[in-house]
Amino acid sequence: MSAPLIEAEQLTKHFFVGGPLSGGRKRVVAVEEVDISLQPGETLGLVGESGCGKSTVGRLLLRLLEPTSGTVRLLGQDIARLSGPDLRRLRTKMQIVFQDPFSSLNPRHRVSDILAAPYRIHSGARRGEIEGKVTALMERVGLDPESSRKYPHEFSGGQRQRIGIARAIALQPDVIVCDEPVSALDVSVQAQIINLLKDLRDETGVALLFISHDLAVVENICDRVAVMYLGRIIELASRDLIFDRPAHPYTEALLAAVPRPSPVRRAERPARLAGEIPSPVDPPSGCAFHPRCPLARERCRRERPGLTVRTDNRSVACHFR
Ligand code: SF4
Repeated sequence: MSAPLIEAEQLTKHFFVGGPLSGGRKRVVAVEEVDISLQPGETLGLVGESGCGKSTVGRLLLRLLEPTSGTVRLLGQDIARLSGPDLRRLRTKMQIVFQDPFSSLNPRHRVSDILAAPYRIHSGARRGEIEGKVTALMERVGLDPESSRKYPHEFSGGQRQRIGIARAIALQPDVIVCDEPVSALDVSVQAQIINLLKDLRDETGVALLFISHDLAVVENICDRVAVMYLGRIIELASRDLIFDRPAHPYTEALLAAVPRPSPVRRAERPARLAGEIPSPVDPPSGCAFHPRCPLARERCRRERPGLTVRTDNRSVACHFR
């Protein structure tokens, strides 16, 4: 396999919450020792329940958050060491598409201004040139260039997400973090946006980190899938392995909640996940999943399983799988 486009090693982020009036400052373990990488043109899904740290991983990759420890390398370059013009150049290579396009688009700016901004700031192109680029961009994402003088509130939810995607691809990035990009959309519109992202990936070779709690969508678009639980990756494998033969009990339980076409497969699947995700302020000892795991034994309460690579090239963090 060629060198990764982007690679995170032992990425860790702790936040501190509270103060003297709430019993002192407490450490929240948002992300712990996460290793992920992406090849050009690859889509890696990052899944897990709300609060598992997946969005924080996306922001750490883009350097929208500083890690507590660990490194992120883009094309072999440690992004923490960049500043000034080098950091601005990096920003053009790594973009994000948000869940709620409405809150990420300035309501007082026309779409033509929103889409022209990346070119004005980063490319030094002339006004006439920029207008041509904005027209091409709108056509590329399926928007009518005639509507470029409209404001974001004059578009539907799906059209606003197309504007968000157009803005993200304007400067031909290497990596796009898609943070729940279709969760706020109707199912029929979701399919259109997923198809648009797939087409853009296949045409340009952009790598996508696709963050989602919706496993059906992840199965549709991703090549590999990383499953997170309480800030750690607990299983990482190809899409087919994850969906056809999940190994970690948590992955199995997540999949049990996804409607599947085969009744045989559904019958083989374990019961849905019970209980709530524990607090990251006070995570359980040993394997963090042990209070909810149907296979938990004494060892699981004492000893945290490391993420180890299996013969089928999947990584799993479980003592007994
Ligand atoms: Fe369950 Fe134990 Fe495996 Fe954790 S290590 S997933 S508690 S069996």
